[in-house]
Amino acid sequence: MTEPSALVLFSGGQDSTVCLAWALARHERVETIGFDYRQRHSVELWCRPKVLAEIKARFPEWGRKLGEDRVLDLGVLGEVSDTALTRERAIDFEASGLPSTFVPGRNLVFLAFAGAMAYRRGLGSVVGGMCETDYSGYPDCRRATMDAMGQALTLGLDRDMPVETPLMYLDKAQTWALAHELGGDRLVDLIVEETHTCYLGDRSHRHDWGYGCGTCPACDLRAKGWAKWRAGR
Ligand code: ZN
Repeated sequence: MTEPSALVLFSGGQDSTVCLAWALARHERVETIGFDYRQRHSVELWCRPKVLAEIKARFPEWGRKLGEDRVLDLGVLGEVSDTALTRERAIDFEASGLPSTFVPGRNLVFLAFAGAMAYRRGLGSVVGGMCETDYSGYPDCRRATMDAMGQALTLGLDRDMPVETPLMYLDKAQTWALAHELGGDRLVDLIVEETHTCYLGDRSHRHDWGYGCGTCPACDLRAKGWAKWRAGR
């Protein structure tokens, strides 16, 4: 039986903030979990408490459902990967065809820990912002991977532990639209001001769509999605 409760993988970025709003709109009890894996854009870890505080302040009805937040230290991930997200190296494409921002197995590790935490906290599902629409080619963002992981958790924990991915088939423009549908301009403004997406951790340049370098793949996606959503309103 799935309980009306969830653990949201919350990084402090746009996607996971929309996922959190989605979970708060449909579940009675929601907790959050984040991971410190020595990401170059560790600035997002600094955004997390601010985003949570703003959600509680601007959406009291959601604030009442929002429970504990935890950040787990997964620095060990940096030891098994040499990527543009965890090292000072260029963001480009490797011989495998995958971008150098790919951290092998990252979401599998995150979900294993999130599943264990959800089990311990008595939460009914894990919610993540994985998306295969304009994903950067990461195989651990695919729905099939999430289904397999949900099944592995359900078997390994001997309890239903589905992995919910509300953004799976949305592009970035539709993600902005979903944010607006869930929380109106209040939520869109919160995402623009407080969430972080830029791979390089840049928070010194402010654009219509928020802070970032404006040129890395993450900024590019966020900016294009914003422009497409605004044009279609
Ligand atoms: Zn950027």
